[in-house]
Amino acid sequence: MSNRRRLDADPIPGGCEDCHAEQVLHEEAPGVLVLTVMHDPTCPYLAKRSTS
Ligand SMILES: [Zn+2]
Repeated sequence: MSNRRRLDADPIPGGCEDCHAEQVLHEEAPGVLVLTVMHDPTCPYLAKRSTS
């Protein structure tokens, strides 16, 4: 459906104070929007989460 792709292709800068993250909003189900933070690979916050 074309109305879902419109949201997928619209990243929002920000979402993490430790890196240049982007937030991607996508529609998981009709009427259910999920906001995912895409961290930079060098993000210290991300590194901390993956080691513990
Ligand atoms: Zn981050």
